[in-house]
Parts: sequence; C-alpha cells; structure tokens
Amino acid sequence: MKALLYTPSLPRFFGARLLGKRFPRKLLPLRLAEVPLPEREGFLRVRVRLSGICGSDLALLYGKSPPSIAPFFSFPAVLGHEILGEYEGSLVAVNPLLACADRGLPPCPRCQEGEEGLCQNVAEGPLAPGMLGYNRDLPGGWGEWVLARPERLYPIPPGVPEERAVFAEPLAVVLRGLNKLKPWPEEVLVLGMGTIGLLAVRLLRALGYTGRLLAVAKYPHQAERAKAFGADGVYGSAKEALLARARRYRYLLFEGYRGGYEAVVEASGSGRGFREALALAREGGKVLLLGAPGLEVVDLSPFWFKEVALWGSYTYTREEFREAVGLLPELEGLESLVGGVYPLEAWPEALVAKGKALFRPKG
Ligand SMILES: [Zn+2]
Ligand SMILES: [Zn+2]
Repeated sequence: MKALLYTPSLPRFFGARLLGKRFPRKLLPLRLAEVPLPEREGFLRVRVRLSGICGSDLALLYGKSPPSIAPFFSFPAVLGHEILGEYEGSLVAVNPLLACADRGLPPCPRCQEGEEGLCQNVAEGPLAPGMLGYNRDLPGGWGEWVLARPERLYPIPPGVPEERAVFAEPLAVVLRGLNKLKPWPEEVLVLGMGTIGLLAVRLLRALGYTGRLLAVAKYPHQAERAKAFGADGVYGSAKEALLARARRYRYLLFEGYRGGYEAVVEASGSGRGFREALALAREGGKVLLLGAPGLEVVDLSPFWFKEVALWGSYTYTREEFREAVGLLPELEGLESLVGGVYPLEAWPEALVAKGKALFRPKG
C-alpha cells in the first residue's frame, strides 16, 4: 500500500532542527513509499478515511521531539496517530495505543488500573516500541490501511461529519487533561489557540463549564474562533494576559508578579508557552500541559514560591476515548478547524497548512 514513511536521518535531523521552518520541506525525512501491509493475529484491517497531522508529528519531523521519549518510538514508521477509519462499511475512530493487551503481555500495574496510556510495557513484547503512528511493525494513519484490535475501534455516532470525527483522538487527550482541573476552577486561561487550545475551549463549554473562560490567541482569526467556541475574553499575548490580572513589582533590575489565573491550560506545546504558563498561574494555581515541550530552560521557582501545581495529559484510558467519541455529535463546528484535506503525495503542502491538516489516502 501507499504510505508516508518516516525514516530517521541524522543529517536531516540536525538540519531541520537548526533551520526549523526554513529547512527545505522536500528534504524532511518523510517520503511516499510502497510499504507492505502486515498481517497480525487478533488485529483487524481498517481502511483509513482521514488522518490528522499533530503537533508532535511536526516536532518529530523538525527534530524537536524530547530526547527522553525517543526509545519509546520505533522507526522507520508510517506516521499518523489521529485516525478515522472505515471497518465493514462503518466509520470508526481508532485508539492508537499499543499497550500490554495489544502486545500479548499480561497487564502491567498501570494497564491493570485502566491507564493504558501510561503502560510500562510500551517498549516490550513481540511488537516494536511505540503506538500506531510511531511504530515500525504496524503502520499509522498516513497510509491506506491500519491494523488495530477490535476493542481499539470506536463507532462514530450517526450524523457526525468525517472532518469532525477525525478529532476524536486529540479530543480524548484534551478531555483527560481538563478533567484533572476538577473541581472546576472559577476561571480558566487557555494559552495558545491552535487546534488543541480551541478544542480545550470548545470542550470546556461542552462539559458544562460555566466559569470565566479566557484565552490567549496570536492571530485575529484564532481569537474570533475562540469567542465563537465560548471564550469570554481573548488576549493578544501572554504578557497582556499577565498585566490584566497580576500586579508588577520591581527591585533593582528585577521584576516579578503577584496574582494571576487560577488555572492555566498550556496548549501551545512550546517551551515559551510553558514559561508563560508558570508566570500566569496565580499563587496556589494549576498549570495543565497539553503539549510537549522538550529540553527547555525554565525558572522553576513558581512551583515553590507560588506553590503552583503542574498536570499533564499525554493520552487516555479506553473510557476517556469512548467519552470523547460520544461527545462528537454535540461538538458542532469542530470541523471548521480543518485547514485542508490532502492526498498523501501533497504532504509538503499539508505540513504548512493553516489550521488542522488532514490526509485522505486513496486506495
Ligand atoms: Zn497527537
Ligand atoms: Zn501495560
């Protein structure tokens, strides 16, 4: 089958890491290839309808992935972990986790608790390390087919358009994270209005959050969408958000702030966003990380001086994934986040699309 294969290459890794978005896209370590579709006992063949490009895919391609998670991926791999498939004529969201159950192993302590996203055996057993989209043995969604066990397939409720249904996976990540903010704070600030930040705003309201919901958006079109999705107010920068709520103090050359936001959701996935989130959280506040900054220089004093608490959300339990799929019918408008739908061969354009880019493999 045709698929987009990622093959690590040290020169390209360092080139892309150094030059960032200026690195020639055609030289990124991704290519359209003919790859075999493996057979695997207990796994079903699912035709890919749509598959999203996630920030972590771009981080991988541009050499920005955190080094400490590298041993838990295996390459070369067909990328794509946001997967909308078709099985026996029905649309299904694919949970891409490859935990103990998929690896034919007895459940580890985390899997026993249902926390498959925290599985301790993701680099063990007969399957190569990593989930679908980061796995050498099983292809991810940027190809014509994926293989998944039946319990990893979630039927899409009738009437949900495909371009909304494809958000099931990132929605599940955001849902898990937002639930960690409970009991609901009186105020939430969401930092970064890319796909994840906008999902967070939309989902908070869908979950019945009635408190004050604020956002930081870089671009005017993101700010408009944030308001349409339920934000009460939108700042143009983190600095503006900080000055709006915190008091500034100066001593010699130094400055510091008192006050801030009860809960800050970091949805930009950048080191800068992380630093800003820590500064924006008020004394005793919470920071939720929905993105994945790697090696960063950060002032950690807010954890101690302001007793800020930090939470993260990486993946999901089966129940969280099911709940996310169940919310799709009421999440009207999510499909407006789609910036373009591309055939596999148009990947150089897809990687720089504005908004959420999706692949629609033929075949
Ligand atoms: Zn992702
Ligand atoms: Zn496990």
